Amino acid sequence: MSMSDNRPGVLYIVATPIGNLQDISARALDVLKTVSLVAAEDTRHSRKLLAHYGIGTALKSVHEHNERDVTDRLVRQLTAGADIALVSDAGTPLISDPGYHLVRTARQAGIRVVPVPGPSALIAALSVAGLPTDRFVFEGFLPAKQAARRQHLLGLATEAATLVFYESSHRIVACLADMADCLGDQREATLARELTKTFETVLTGSLDGLLEQLQADSHQQKGEFVVIVQGAAPRDPAAIDAASEQVLAVLLSELPLKQAATLVARITGLSKNVLYEQGLKLKNKV
Ligand code: SAM
Repeated sequence: MSMSDNRPGVLYIVATPIGNLQDISARALDVLKTVSLVAAEDTRHSRKLLAHYGIGTALKSVHEHNERDVTDRLVRQLTAGADIALVSDAGTPLISDPGYHLVRTARQAGIRVVPVPGPSALIAALSVAGLPTDRFVFEGFLPAKQAARRQHLLGLATEAATLVFYESSHRIVACLADMADCLGDQREATLARELTKTFETVLTGSLDGLLEQLQADSHQQKGEFVVIVQGAAPRDPAAIDAASEQVLAVLLSELPLKQAATLVARITGLSKNVLYEQGLKLKNKV
């Protein structure tokens, strides 16, 4: 895997532990040992990991603020035959971490990009949350400003898939409060804190219940979190919400019942028969 004269190098995307140093694969160690260069989000942090395993490979810093500048140089080195490994501080690179620009540019330049899979906090959390995993939406970090955060959450309120968020200690309480408000305080959720570390805690309850637990115990507010929230309950096709009933009433004042019910069904996705029955009741009330 070292420099060769006539073949381009390989860019390895290497997952590293999210807390417990033993969670590194034998293949990841092999790759980190044999590449020409390890591109790391924080070289001091990754040097400790490499030193722990007696690996002396050179490190180059690639972080959020210099990724675009460094990418061209790294792709030139790859084209010239150097094998390079990309790591982030924890978990899988590119997952709420730098690397997207490098991977995209390398692939466009015809470089082989090889995954060396391993830990990621979102998958570790999902695997223990006890919430449906057949469909999930990874949302990463929510906006820091409350107005933007709430707007974002309101946009997710009807999402039926399980929702997965990353959060840090200083915003976890504010985020849970906004989630309870915007998604419904009785929604079931799991809070996965400090996974694979000494204070690993996995709490499950309603959003309101979890918020109360954190407010009652400041220790539970410390560390790194994955928040997993149950998806929205499937809509009952027989339940007519107030807004749809209002549209039906307006159309009924101008159109025959059958046509009004058909139009509202097309607009809202509700059952035509249910709307027809409701329309009859509305007409009889008048
Ligand atoms: N690339 C990483 C991955 O694959 O999971 C994520 C990096 S992101 C910058 C850091 C966030 O991931 C933290 O704020 C937290 O939300 C989550 N996280 C990372 N390690 C964690 C852990 N041990 N327990 C819980 N959440 C963790």
